[in-house]
Amino acid sequence: MTRIVSGIQPTGQLHLGNYLGAIRNWVRMQDQFDGEKLFFLADLHAITVHNDPAALKANIREIAAALFAAGVDPAKATLFRQAAVPAHAELCWLLNGTARIGWLNRMTQFKEKSGKNREGASVGLFAYPVLQAADVLLYRATHVPVGEDQKQHLELARDIATKFNTDFATELFTLPEPIIPPAAARIMSLRDGSAKMSKSDPSDMSRVNLSDDPDAIAAKLRKAKTDPEPLPDDPAQLEGRPEARNLVAIYAALSDETQAQVLARFAGQGFGAFKPALAELVVETLRPIGTRLAELRRDPAELDRLLAHGAARAREIAAPTLAGAYAALGLD
Ligand code: ATP
Ligand code: MG
Repeated sequence: MTRIVSGIQPTGQLHLGNYLGAIRNWVRMQDQFDGEKLFFLADLHAITVHNDPAALKANIREIAAALFAAGVDPAKATLFRQAAVPAHAELCWLLNGTARIGWLNRMTQFKEKSGKNREGASVGLFAYPVLQAADVLLYRATHVPVGEDQKQHLELARDIATKFNTDFATELFTLPEPIIPPAAARIMSLRDGSAKMSKSDPSDMSRVNLSDDPDAIAAKLRKAKTDPEPLPDDPAQLEGRPEARNLVAIYAALSDETQAQVLARFAGQGFGAFKPALAELVVETLRPIGTRLAELRRDPAELDRLLAHGAARAREIAAPTLAGAYAALGLD
């Protein structure tokens, strides 16, 4: 049976990268796959960087609302908050006995996020991929939809599962496969074509948030970094032009076309023409999501109820795997 698990951190505003790299696929998968679909707010991951508890609490509701607004349907999928299912933290600790420091040392996200202050980074930020492994192994996920940026962590989850199964002569854990959306797997910052669009980027101009209004969207795209060359007719000629490539990739993902199809229409034109067309497409895509988001923001009690319902379901599915892990380790 197919079982899909995917999470998102409640660390800030959801942006177009999250939407195209993750959320839109969650919504599409709700209908495409039979079997269990589990989506969660990774609030335990969020405390690995500077944490403002009041802001975190607000972000959790905000992101839950945005996910429901973007089309996650509680009748088809289980959406919950990670901390409401203690089995995530418990299994993570059990897996810490299996994960190797050398494996974690190779993780590029830790290097990026810890930056120059590696010694001052939290242990949680370093061990983050082990918690991620617990997140998916707990539910015996068969498929994990991730953006390109999370491929390495999923590979690590497979390594941990394999070693655990081998070391303790069990078949407890299923090896999850990544599902990486072909188009728009990695949306880049609007200010720097070599950095990915992130919630945690301090510059709000670097991303389009799902809750941005049409004027803000147009302004951000107008000011997006580009180059003076016109658009080519062949996507291969975008090589070496990361900002141009990114905007074309965003357009193609939103219009469900290939980059070649998009370029066929805009070849020879400069960004003065392309950016307004892109802004219109982004605005039209986000308009219905923004409307529904505004409605949900007005009803926090309903949101809490939906999340509690999801957590109860997730706890039920997680219980046998967690018990199996304790037993395999001689801790039952
Ligand atoms: P943070 O900066 O706090 O890590 P983030 O923007 O990277 O935030 P996450 O919560 O880490 O967002 O990731 C949520 C999901 O969105 C993941 O599946 C991830 O692969 C995907 N994702 C994040 N950024 C991008 C991006 N720029 N392009 C495509 N997918 C992305
Ligand atoms: Mg991230």
